[in-house]
Amino acid sequence: MAESLSLPGFVNAHSHAFQRALRGRTEGDDFWGWRDAMLALAESLSVDQVRAGYVEVYREMLGAGYTAVGEFHYLGLAEAHAAVEAATEAGIELVLLLSAYGRGGSERFRQASAADYLSQLEAVRETGVRIGLAPHSVRACPRDWHEELGRYAAAESLPLHVHADEPPREIEECLAEHGVRPIELLADTGCLGPHTTVVHATHADGRELDLLAEAGARVCVCPTTEANLGDGFAPVPALCERRIGMCIGSDSNVRIDPLEELRELEGIARRNAGKRNVVSLSSLLCFGSDEGAAALGLDSWPDIEADLEHPSLTGLEPHDVHAALVFGCSGDVFRAAETH
Ligand SMILES: [Zn+2]
Repeated sequence: MAESLSLPGFVNAHSHAFQRALRGRTEGDDFWGWRDAMLALAESLSVDQVRAGYVEVYREMLGAGYTAVGEFHYLGLAEAHAAVEAATEAGIELVLLLSAYGRGGSERFRQASAADYLSQLEAVRETGVRIGLAPHSVRACPRDWHEELGRYAAAESLPLHVHADEPPREIEECLAEHGVRPIELLADTGCLGPHTTVVHATHADGRELDLLAEAGARVCVCPTTEANLGDGFAPVPALCERRIGMCIGSDSNVRIDPLEELRELEGIARRNAGKRNVVSLSSLLCFGSDEGAAALGLDSWPDIEADLEHPSLTGLEPHDVHAALVFGCSGDVFRAAETH
């Protein structure tokens, strides 16, 4: 039998699987230009296309070493069931992060009220699907939605995921509407706690990061997507200083490779700090698996095996293999662990 090394599977804490279809598209000057293309794609998809497309994307994730995924879903309720079916068919653990969308975007994203959203969530939850709340962003949800969803997530001990501070314009608009920045609004409305994951936090200021640290919330960093969209740099050293937990997400799925996400995360930190080893290797691997699982409320998820006979891993000293994975390999070195 080929030599291999067993590891905990990587956990993809933030995915929009349908966006994989945009990977070869280059239009749009910035986040907002890309968003127009994304909205047009989202509006064009049928339920059957969602189901079939997601099976392929989830198989790619498994092939790259992700064995669990948090699907941040805003395409509609029938499509949410299709995403769950696709995950089952592909064989990946899925937590459905059902998005609440009160305004803007596409009509198919939106619910009529927070109560309407929660009744959708409960209908899915009753089928036994692992679920989390996902107010899309302070852009997409009014203040009272955040209050109601924050209360519900805390009472039910469910994960709450929310995009924040990715495009700078979101911060300006939040300040104009509410007089506070996005993560401050999340704190004010009861949305921050140990069960909370803020996706991106790219332009969070010191006060916002302090609020995350005080609440015990996590940040999901999505470096390949953030690079692709020109979002900016995740504030990795500032997150480390405050001991804020990080996890990773493939987000737009322009790349599906946990090792590349981790390498970029540490690469950003090294470029910022002007030194090596800003985040320890063990912490990086923890961000890639345990922290992602905790963000999704998962207690267990399948292991993977690294192929030690892969050209990227041959000729190494055994104690260098883990570092070589993060700094010198792609996800094609992994295969699902054999079950006995
Ligand atoms: Zn996202």
